[in-house]
Amino acid sequence: MQVRPPSFDYNRGMNNVQEPSATTGQAPADVTAPARFTRNNPYNSTIVLNRVLNGASCDKETRHIALSLDAGMTYTPGDSVGVLPGYRAEAVEEVLAALGFSGNERVLNHYKEEISFEQALRAWLTIGKLTRGTIGQYAKLAGAPNVGGLGYDALKQLCGPENKARAEEYCWGREFIDLITDFPGAVANPQELFNVMPRLAARLYSIASSQMLHPDTAETTVRVVRYNTHGRSRQGVASGQLGERAGVGANLPIFLHSNQNFRLPQDGSVPIIMVGPGTGVAPFRAFLEERQAKGESGKNWLFFGDQHCASDFLYEEQWGQMLAHGTLTRMDTAFSRDQAHKIYVQDRIRENAAELYAWLESGAYFYVCGDAVNMAKAVELELLNAIAAGSNTTQERAAEYLAAMKQQKRYQRDIY
Ligand SMILES: Cc1cc2nc3c(=O)[nH]c(=O)nc-3n(C[C@H](O)[C@H](O)[C@H](O)COP(=O)(O)OP(=O)(O)OC[C@H]3O[C@@H](n4cnc5c(N)ncnc54)[C@H](O)[C@@H]3O)c2cc1C
Repeated sequence: MQVRPPSFDYNRGMNNVQEPSATTGQAPADVTAPARFTRNNPYNSTIVLNRVLNGASCDKETRHIALSLDAGMTYTPGDSVGVLPGYRAEAVEEVLAALGFSGNERVLNHYKEEISFEQALRAWLTIGKLTRGTIGQYAKLAGAPNVGGLGYDALKQLCGPENKARAEEYCWGREFIDLITDFPGAVANPQELFNVMPRLAARLYSIASSQMLHPDTAETTVRVVRYNTHGRSRQGVASGQLGERAGVGANLPIFLHSNQNFRLPQDGSVPIIMVGPGTGVAPFRAFLEERQAKGESGKNWLFFGDQHCASDFLYEEQWGQMLAHGTLTRMDTAFSRDQAHKIYVQDRIRENAAELYAWLESGAYFYVCGDAVNMAKAVELELLNAIAAGSNTTQERAAEYLAAMKQQKRYQRDIY
């Protein structure tokens, strides 16, 4: 039976969860029992492993984090774990000080339960990344006409539809603390603010382990978001928490998030090609562990990339073992900053286009995970080029070939 620790905000109404920006392909539906722990009723997991994967010389921080599971919590390679994060105490205190409240004030949450304003700011409301929506809501507060700092007129100007670009520019790199510092005095009472602020969403992390090898844990690969903008040092709410306030033994509310559209082929003899630069490699560690544990005979080809081989080759040792064992048939890497000109995974695909097409012709599934903004598009372009060159046809015919692959669930992406 799950015990609710007093410091933990259960039932805090995480109906919203950050979703993948795109997923393609459909896999056969998994037959699973309804989840006992959900984003609205999370499991109070314990961190059992939290180690940095990057080398010491690296300015990036990527962590391998293992989270304990309750008996009966099951996942399939391709699934994610949802984390319900909380802001660091300093960030909450800064907002409270700027608003002129102690944090002990009482507010009603979305379920009409009484919580402290400090709790509300820490775990219920989005006080991180600023959006135009938040500015608009803030400007509607009863006290807004009295704002000091840059003044009410300037605040109103940011809200008008004609000033969309200006508002976007203002939001970039800013958080709620910047808004209330630049335009102070709008919040007359905490409840009024609670009612208009966006809820804090759960964050998803691809599961990087096979439960066949790790029955009691879900392992993840987390890139810690840290940056400096507008004179403040910032961090991502979830990855920052995992990076500095989630040592071994710490507790974290989690739930499992199934993704039926990112699945290994049911037939273990089918070859697969996986493209996963950076943290995009996480689900492929799960795929490969699963195929290894099952002793499946299908060939496996992994494309991995990051900035530097010496510091960013995530799970290098395990890939080496898998190559030696034969689980990994082939691995191609692209370290963008180890030479004068940048090399990315899409370049490796182009260099190996003929072989890649031969794999596709033999029925291979093609998977992509990671950056949705640049990488996934560039990879798709090279995939189309490989198909067009391999089949000696036009880009249009290559697009039809790829569409057929999608239809057959042989082209699947989990990009964010
Ligand atoms: C299906 C899915 C799977 C995912 N899997 C993984 C995974 O395996 N590993 C992983 O690490 N992540 C993964 N993510 C992303 C992850 O869920 C979070 O989005 C990520 O960790 C950031 O969340 P955060 O709470 O730490 O940061 P947030 O508090 O959400 O802050 C992030 C925001 O900070 C701002 N920002 C960041 N850097 C800068 C900068 N330099 N300058 C200005 N602004 C900046 C941006 O606006 C950015 O959106 C996945 C996402 C999805 C949807």
